[in-house]
Amino acid sequence: MMAKSHIAVGLAAATLVVAPATFKEVVPLVIGASVGSIICDLDSKKSNVNKDAFYGRLIVGIICAVMVVLDVYFGMSVWKSIKAGLDPTLALGIGILAGMIFICSKTNHRGFAHSFVALAIYMYALQFIYVDVMLPFGVAFISHIVLDLFNKKRVKILWPVKRGFCLGLCYSNRLGNRIAFIAGCCALVLEIAAIQMKVL
Ligand SMILES: [Zn+2]
Repeated sequence: MMAKSHIAVGLAAATLVVAPATFKEVVPLVIGASVGSIICDLDSKKSNVNKDAFYGRLIVGIICAVMVVLDVYFGMSVWKSIKAGLDPTLALGIGILAGMIFICSKTNHRGFAHSFVALAIYMYALQFIYVDVMLPFGVAFISHIVLDLFNKKRVKILWPVKRGFCLGLCYSNRLGNRIAFIAGCCALVLEIAAIQMKVL
């Protein structure tokens, strides 16, 4: 699937699971879900896929920047929950995260970067950086894998097991992609309405 579909579905899935009760919970939800929804595709190398991945990163960068500004403006102090200063575990978390980004960018598409092993390593690193983003990140990451499984290219979700899986139902940039994007957007709107009405 294309990046915007992953972002829409990832945000919708994470919002459904987290169901934020206060606006304060929205910032880590949106940051975690938007990053988690596209981080698998660090392994994109084909020029057309890479272009889409670039736009996906741009969208996520803008979303995260808006969230940070809102956080600062409303004084919600989410950044206080990030361990500050010389705490060695923060450096450990950032180091692992940086290493993962480098390694995943060098691996084959829909291989290690799309696996549960990669998810486990990301989660291990995030616990040292920003605990509140872990749940939405994990949910969005899994939503990415689930969406990719509908495509015709196999996904090695059980890496290092060599066998990959796919349902072969659609191409990543055609009708299935459009359906996923629209479904993700509609679900997100309905969830926000449900949260407003306090039924979610
Ligand atoms: Zn993917």
